[in-house]
Amino acid sequence: MEHLRNIPHMDDILKHPEVAGLMTRVRRDMVVAVAREVVAQLRAQLLAKPQTIPKATLLEEAARHTRSRITALTAGTLQEVINGTGVVLHTNLGRAPLSTAALQEIQGLAAGYTNLELDLDSGERGSRYRHLEELLAALTGAEAALVVNNNAAAVLLGLNTIAKGREVIVSRGQLVEIGGAFRIPEVMKASGAILVEVGTTNKTYPSDIAEAIGPQTALLFSAHTSNYRIVGFTREVSLKELVTVGRQAGLPVMHDLGSGVLVDLSPWGLKGEPTVQQSIEAGVDIVTFSGDKLLGGPQAGIIVGKKAYIDAMKKNQLLRALRVDKLTIAALEGTLKTYLLAQPQETIPVLQMLTTTSEVLEQRSRSLCEQLQAAIGGHPLVASIASTALEDRVGGGAYPIHSLPGFGVQIAFKGRLETIARILRQSRPALLTRIQDNCLLISVRTLANGDVQQIVRLIGDALDSLAGEINNSIPDGPEER
Ligand SMILES: *Cc1c(COP(=O)(O)O)cnc(C)c1O
Repeated sequence: MEHLRNIPHMDDILKHPEVAGLMTRVRRDMVVAVAREVVAQLRAQLLAKPQTIPKATLLEEAARHTRSRITALTAGTLQEVINGTGVVLHTNLGRAPLSTAALQEIQGLAAGYTNLELDLDSGERGSRYRHLEELLAALTGAEAALVVNNNAAAVLLGLNTIAKGREVIVSRGQLVEIGGAFRIPEVMKASGAILVEVGTTNKTYPSDIAEAIGPQTALLFSAHTSNYRIVGFTREVSLKELVTVGRQAGLPVMHDLGSGVLVDLSPWGLKGEPTVQQSIEAGVDIVTFSGDKLLGGPQAGIIVGKKAYIDAMKKNQLLRALRVDKLTIAALEGTLKTYLLAQPQETIPVLQMLTTTSEVLEQRSRSLCEQLQAAIGGHPLVASIASTALEDRVGGGAYPIHSLPGFGVQIAFKGRLETIARILRQSRPALLTRIQDNCLLISVRTLANGDVQQIVRLIGDALDSLAGEINNSIPDGPEER
């Protein structure tokens, strides 16, 4: 074990200037714990691959690793990303950016105490679920409302409350899977309800539903096929038909709407996404949808519908595990209050991005292009920069087949495309772009105010960091990954 003898002592690592300086800011025991882990790894490496490395080298290495791990820990991992993808509701990017109204509500309430569960009139204990109920009822036309952690939780709670140990009828064409492992059959199982599939993938008739109803049936369920469409030779049971079958059999109908849009976006060319109000008008008993998809608010699952069912959900023990905190309630209240105003699409970021006109997008794209031309147009790695029409997407499983004509800047490099994209992802703030036709593509639809200046700087910096490696001729060799 000769080669293990040079492993540095803890004291020497802590005294090393790279590490000692940290101790003025960071707790000593944290630094010690990290240094211990670094030493253990060093030991494991030397055991796996025996070699004699000088003591001073190992000490340098241990000190450097300790410092970089502590720096990474204090920096945290959740960070700002500039969304140049043109996908408005990008689940990997945290879905909806919040509106100023939502942020102000959080800002005003989160730092102090609130009446979260206090009835200020009586001085008695109140319910946190009371806060959003009137607002949601007013906006959707429903009798009652309840907000939980996310839409998956909303579906789970609804099924568990109404159909635990009993049967739920669903059309085979609606057994959806949403990204991030939300599958109707799995949620059904987790809720304790028994799934009864009827019809076929492409065709289900009201009679299929009616014939499947038996003494064990508790609920008729409809899921919005938010991330796909079945086209061609198709027949699906409409909400109205489902409600009619349900009424005849004395059974409630639940609709998992997914995205939950409150305003009709068809004037902006976004047709075919049903609104929450339409579901309620059709007579659906329980409607569930997400807070952070087209609604443009925080992550939440919103349940609206008949009071009797919502009251039963409020009494379900499961609710305690799915409940929302004051931050969510504040952000959602701020978001929903905007929907009382005349033009919510002017202040809810998600709606703003979806309703920006082509003229404005093109103008922004031209401006970004000009600024990039001026900053990096002459760089030896840059082949061309152009403003171009492109296709954006709504994302978040809404409008799956809807193309959203957009604009953006296309940059062709002389090689190193993947490397440049990676450097941009790793920069601060991170910049996420698209790669298409061997070019870097930045859509302007999903950019926020101030992003343009940052993008120009980040791409300039990325090219500079590659500058050391630039020769007169850059080989078009295989890209590193
Ligand atoms: C997105 C979606 C869900 C899941 O909602 P989360 O808020 O992500 O939990 C469930 N059902 C449908 C139809 C959806 O589109």
